[in-house]
Amino acid sequence: MTAQDEVRFRSCLDDVAAYKPGRPPERTDGRPTYKLSSNENPYPPLPGVLAAATAAAEDMNRYPDHGAVDLLEALSERFGVPISDLAVGTGSVAVLYHLLQAACTHGDEVVYAWRSFEAYPIAVQLTGATSVQVPLTEDARHDFKAMEAAITDRTKAVLVCTPNNPTGPAVRRDELLAFLDVVPPNVLVVLDEAYREFVREPETVDGAELYRERSNVVVLRTFSKAYGLAGFRVGYAIGHPPAIAAIRKCALPFGVSQVAQAAAIASLRAEQELLERVEALVAERTRVVGELRAAGWNVPETHANFVWMPLGDQTVAFAEAVQAEGVSVRPFPGEGARVTIGEREANDLFLKVACAWRR
Ligand SMILES: *Cc1c(COP(=O)(O)O)cnc(C)c1O
Repeated sequence: MTAQDEVRFRSCLDDVAAYKPGRPPERTDGRPTYKLSSNENPYPPLPGVLAAATAAAEDMNRYPDHGAVDLLEALSERFGVPISDLAVGTGSVAVLYHLLQAACTHGDEVVYAWRSFEAYPIAVQLTGATSVQVPLTEDARHDFKAMEAAITDRTKAVLVCTPNNPTGPAVRRDELLAFLDVVPPNVLVVLDEAYREFVREPETVDGAELYRERSNVVVLRTFSKAYGLAGFRVGYAIGHPPAIAAIRKCALPFGVSQVAQAAAIASLRAEQELLERVEALVAERTRVVGELRAAGWNVPETHANFVWMPLGDQTVAFAEAVQAEGVSVRPFPGEGARVTIGEREANDLFLKVACAWRR
């Protein structure tokens, strides 16, 4: 068989890196294990949310509501935005894929900070476009001056992750507004607010408000983190009708299951209770960061449900040491480790290793 006889796939797929999920913890001595490697919510589902999902499962022989009408209505009411400004998908990562697929093609460039969310390079590359990665500042924040300088005639989209995964700082309102003022209005700006509910920076942006004045801004949010529905895959976009219509055209038919739609609606109804859990995680975050700093760690400010450990070439050794305590974290070899704020016992095991760590 010659190369001509082989099925050919698009060349942009050739060096797409596989998405690396956080490792599950492992141990063999029977002591409990904890997963702090995927920024999941450690709390079990609220009984009411579980009941709504279970009831929806009774109709599993039927396709879900394709238009996700009830969920869109609940979101519309929650944010005071019209349904034409909302699109849902199987996680906000899926919504991002659809959006970039709709906007970008070979020859286009997509600008974003780096290091940032690992799904970005994959999502960009799949469209055939080129990633333009702009290094973070010393304190692990977006460098908007450098991002501005990276914009060219080929720039189709800019991705802004706030708080930034995996480093933690949240983008401030003034810096984002100044940046938006210099981005050409025909360049799409995606504001990824996956951790919005964990932000306690008073000067932060609120994408659901900001997008109203900016026709090129699309906001991404998710039920995976604060709302504890990572296993059900529901995320959404808030943006102007042309962008929303483009996302909907690219979306898979019947993507979000009825079980997931029901759980998301029930979660919005139980938002007060869920946000109390977020508050408890924020308190844990404050404790963890305080103890790390007291032990001499120079960790960046974090407004998400994780903390960044700048470990450099000790990253892998550190991840292994924490793993030996039954806790998995997310190493980025040579750079650092991202550690989710989880249940108190898990955070304590992580702190035990971190505070005794010799640098
Ligand atoms: C977790 C996360 C998401 C959301 O992922 P889902 O697909 O909604 O589960 C989006 N962006 C960032 C930066 C994240 O960390």
